[in-house]
Formats: sequence, structure tokens, C-alpha cells
Amino acid sequence: MTELLSVIVPVHNESAVLGSFHTRMTEVMAETGSAHEIIYIDDGSTDGSAELLSAIRAEDPAVAVIELSRNFGKEIAVSAGLDHARGEAVIVIDADLQDPPELVHTFLREWRDGYDVVYGKRIDRRGETRTKKLTARWFYRVLNFLSDVEIPEDAGDFRLLSRRAVDALVSLPERHRYMKGLYAWIGFPQKAIPYVREPREAGRTHWSYWRLWNFALEGITSFSNVPLKVATYLGVVTSGLALFYGLFLLVRTLIWGNPVPGYPSLIIVMLFLGGVQLICLGVIGEYLARTYQETKSRALYFVKGYHPASSQVRAEDAQE
Ligand code: UDP
Ligand code: MG
Repeated sequence: MTELLSVIVPVHNESAVLGSFHTRMTEVMAETGSAHEIIYIDDGSTDGSAELLSAIRAEDPAVAVIELSRNFGKEIAVSAGLDHARGEAVIVIDADLQDPPELVHTFLREWRDGYDVVYGKRIDRRGETRTKKLTARWFYRVLNFLSDVEIPEDAGDFRLLSRRAVDALVSLPERHRYMKGLYAWIGFPQKAIPYVREPREAGRTHWSYWRLWNFALEGITSFSNVPLKVATYLGVVTSGLALFYGLFLLVRTLIWGNPVPGYPSLIIVMLFLGGVQLICLGVIGEYLARTYQETKSRALYFVKGYHPASSQVRAEDAQE
């Protein structure tokens, strides 16, 4: 019996590249000499990607398609893929050919050497603006300063996971899935493989700055409680300062009397404290909202249609 490798591909409006992606990916998988399944997760595409995927599946018995009931976002699409993958090793790769499928050979070699998580680390972000690179760099600095697991910078979702790493990820019950953090959090031997990330072959990125900001918030609140503590320290510092200022005012009044100016200092203190309180409330709110969503334990996603790989179906029939 040969081993089975699974490839997970989240797809959201990628009709422009799906064809060439599939050709290249299949070539690579054929070269490995192992049995494989390629699982496409259609994350609520509206550009005909779904039809294209069924056409690809009709041609290739190794292709499985999971259609989500709407657009859930890449993190959840990948989770859906992990839930359905059956291989001994699972490869996660974007459909837009920014991650070179050929790197999978290197991933496999490291996996056979005993690594559970082998991930691509971008050494050159071609086709990305300076501001985007800078904000990304700072985000990782802040995130790693705040959180207790080291989340590698410049590592994307492009990676290979061993069966036990996949089982670990699938067993995590949380609704808020900051995958990059979770990959690091599960532990196991991990290895980074440097590679050059190509510009998108076609189509355009799904990440606006607003979406990136929300993604950053997700990362920080999922992996750090430090912002909650900041409120306490801010409170301690401001009340300390206020105490000293109060003493200073008292002494000044005792010695020189009270000339009743007061308005500027009063308004400054009021505005400052008001601001600090609002910020702290906001921080608590972010965590509270997430706690609320976790306690609802709502399903992570819904599947509109699951079309397993026909090669798999046949293999199962043969077993019965
Ligand atoms: N994607 C998805 N759901 C979404 C957005 C993106 O499944 O809501 C997929 C997309 O089809 C692609 C991958 O996630 O395969 C990465 O998306 P994108 O190229 O926009 O991200 P970037 O490469 O800019 O980080
Ligand atoms: Mg991309």
C-alpha cells in the first residue's frame, strides 16, 4: 500500500488561474510517485470558479471539491480542507501560484526526515509595496513581543503538515482561527524553507488594508492577553501621576494661595482620563466579543456540496 498525500487549496474567485494551477500541481504530485488527492475548497466564489472546479474534477479522479455555503474567509476554508484531508501528509497551498508547487518536493524530504510542520518562509516579497512590507514587519514584532508562542515572520500558509499535526489542529475547538498562530502553537518539530514568493499570476489579492487590520487584531487577541493588562498598568500610572499632581497643587495652594486659573489643567486631565477609559473599554470589548462568539459554539462553516475524489471513492468501494 502506498502512502496518500493530500493537497488543500482554498479558492475564492480564482477562475483566471485555476487551470494552470491544477496542471502544475498535478505534475509535481505525479513526480512524487505517491498516491495523492487535491482538495479544492470553493469559498463562496462568484466568478465561475465552482463550475471550473467541477470540470477539473470530472477530468481528474484525484480531485475532491468542497463547496462552502458562502464566503467564510481563507482561514476557515483551510480548516474545512484539513477536516476532510485523509493523507499521511497534508500540503496547504494558495491557488494563485504565488507559492511554487515545486517546493513540495523539498517539503516532502524534510517531512520524511521527521519534521511535522515544514513551512515556506518568504525571502523576497515581489510585487508587494514597501508600506505593506513595513507594516507586516512591525506587526510581527508587536505580535511576538506580546504573545508567548513565537509566530514566525514571513511564513504564510504554504506548508506541509504531518498527520499528527493535522489531527492536533483539527482537535482545536476555537472558532476564531488565526492559523499562523495555531500552526506555531501546536508545537512538534518544525522547519522553515526559504523561498521567493512570486507576484500573483492573475486576478487580484483579497486583502485590503482594513481586512489586514482585522486580521492583525485577530492574531493579537488570539495569542496574547497583554492588551488586557495594559488597561491595569495605564490606570496605575495615571492615578500615580494624578496623585503627585494633586500633592503639587495642594502645596502650591498652601504657599501661594489659589489664583483660580485651573481650567487648562482640569480639561487636560479630564480628556486624558476619558480617552484612557474609552481605550480600555475598547480592549475589553474586543476580548469580550470573542469570548461571546466562542461560547456560542457556532459551526465553523457549512458545506453546500462535498464531492470526494473519485479515486478515493473507488478505493473505499474496493475495501467493502
Ligand atoms: N481565499 C479564500 N477565501 C477568501 C480569500 C482568499 O479561500 O475569502 C484564497 C484565495 O483564493 C487564494 C488564497 O486564499 O487561494 C490567498 O488569497 P490571496 O492571494 O488574496 O492572499 P495573498 O496571497 O495576497 O496573501
Ligand atoms: Mg496570493
